Amino acid sequence: MPTGGLQRAIGPKIRRIPVHKPLFINFCEEILKRNNMKATSLPPTQRQTAIDQDFDVLIVGGGVAGLYLLYRLRGLGLSAVAFEAGSSVGGTWYWNRYPGCRCDVESLEYSYSFANDLQQEWNWPERYGTQPEILKYINHVTERFNLRRDIRFNTRITSALFCRRKVLWTLCTDRGEIFRAPYCVMATGNLSTPQTPEFSGLDRFKGDWFHTGLWPHDEVKFSGKRVGIIGTGSSGIQSIPHIAQQASHLYVFQRTANFSLPARNGPLDPEIEQRHKSEYSARRKAAFDTPFGIAGYPPPEKSALDVSDKERLQTYEQKWAEGGQISFLYSFNDLLTNKASNDTAAEFVRQKIRKTVKDPIVAELLAPKSHPIGTKRLILDTNYYETYNRNNVTLVDVSNHAIEEITPNGIRTEDGHFTVDSIVFATGFDAMTGAILDIDIGVEDGPSVRDVWKHGPTSYLGLTIAGFPNLFTITGPGSPGVKSQMILSIEQHVDFIANCLQHMKSRDLIQIEATFDAEDLWVKHVRQVADATLYPLANSWYMGVNVPGKPKVFMPYVGGVDRYKKKCDAVVDGGYMGFSMSA
Ligand code: NAP
Repeated sequence: MPTGGLQRAIGPKIRRIPVHKPLFINFCEEILKRNNMKATSLPPTQRQTAIDQDFDVLIVGGGVAGLYLLYRLRGLGLSAVAFEAGSSVGGTWYWNRYPGCRCDVESLEYSYSFANDLQQEWNWPERYGTQPEILKYINHVTERFNLRRDIRFNTRITSALFCRRKVLWTLCTDRGEIFRAPYCVMATGNLSTPQTPEFSGLDRFKGDWFHTGLWPHDEVKFSGKRVGIIGTGSSGIQSIPHIAQQASHLYVFQRTANFSLPARNGPLDPEIEQRHKSEYSARRKAAFDTPFGIAGYPPPEKSALDVSDKERLQTYEQKWAEGGQISFLYSFNDLLTNKASNDTAAEFVRQKIRKTVKDPIVAELLAPKSHPIGTKRLILDTNYYETYNRNNVTLVDVSNHAIEEITPNGIRTEDGHFTVDSIVFATGFDAMTGAILDIDIGVEDGPSVRDVWKHGPTSYLGLTIAGFPNLFTITGPGSPGVKSQMILSIEQHVDFIANCLQHMKSRDLIQIEATFDAEDLWVKHVRQVADATLYPLANSWYMGVNVPGKPKVFMPYVGGVDRYKKKCDAVVDGGYMGFSMSA
């Protein structure tokens, strides 16, 4: 039987119906109909909320972004409510509770910067934060700033419709409630729609199965069990060493080998912590002048091809020993733009894998050859490759011999049958667009976001979508969010939105909308920048290729946080260039 929150992964998909509503007045009735409800069938409290609850801003999501937005809006005297599908705050860090889950950005960077007392007082025990530690921090922030009272938990937004005549968004929840406000912000996260491949036979599997992105809250015990894990992305590579320690046998089903570097995690040195904290304000500011939003890594000046073999090797060895993605990708200045340079780094890591893994056949299968290093998320691990030297771990190559079906007691590939008691799906997410498209978002008498994004997401700055007034997306497609220190990008977007609303309020403006021209130019720029790099060479979730039927479009902005922030600042300084605002 499926366990815990898994129902959500396999539960019925929200229907994707384009919105073409002739009259706003019919909207609530229509939405209730779509959700198979009648206003009179709702409990009295819900019926009341359906007509009485008005706010300035409706926020979808109670993760790191939704929380900071609530904080900022409160400071501006605007009323807001956030809707959160989970039973508590945290978003990514609430859902991803799999064994070994940990952030791949260092603790001293991966935190809010908006409150100095907070960043000075909070103590991170390790170089990289574990999921429980990060969730504890997010809960602390929630209590410290008394944010919980404005969040509706266990509430999923199913649809959102904008009425131009009334300048009003109307959002419906899966509980039959209706909320209205002039502004709506999608703080829905980039990796919040888990993907479980539709393997035939899963419904007949007799054991437990889990998705890393929807892990049960109760402890999952693998002791004495035969476990199969499908997927070797960040989630798989983090959890495999932990599951291997418990399971009687672990079968790892790998379709594509990935590059992973040792994290070199450990307790945080109190001296380093103190020094970092004393420099916090300068470091946070300097982070905006860097491509990944993290200060402290001097930009490399040389190409990997302009140094001797000896110097190149020494550089890679030093970075390998240091640990960390940026450090490694900053070995030379062209690792993400020049394939020949990239090959030298990729081969260095492949050699490390060959030296670590004792069985040469397994080592060769684990050595990635399908994509340049860094063009998929460069993974950080602790003892990942070493895990394949254990007697109770088997690597099953499913690159040429795909998984055919799940049987009642195992997994069948074209190569044979593997008997397992539990299956872990580390199969990733419908990234960047999944959570937005799960909501039926539209404008009265206009198309829906689902229509507009049919051939791939379009957006101005990853913050707004032309044709959808008063709607904002935090770290949406077309922004550098997922290619940066995420919390820094979230803060920058929230500040942009909050400052924009303040600007409008002070001038009695009530409607803002990106122009189609500005959006077209931005979309072209995002693609041009990506095309000048090696990123499009990988079949990654950045390209949308991990979801069957999803348009193949490179979604993040890889021009760097520094360039992006300057562009946003110029937009604001120019009087919100590329937007039309009206009273
Ligand atoms: P992912 O990177 O998309 O990896 C999914 C894995 O599942 C891939 O190995 C994929 O193989 C495999 N897979 C999917 N469908 C399959 C099928 N039908 N048969 C066999 N294999 C299949 O997902 P993820 O590991 O959850 O990571 C997603 C992102 O979340 C990361 O890139 C990272 O940005 C973030 N993340 C961060 C951390 C961290 O901070 N440490 C931890 C976890 C996740 P293919 O490659 O062949 O498609």
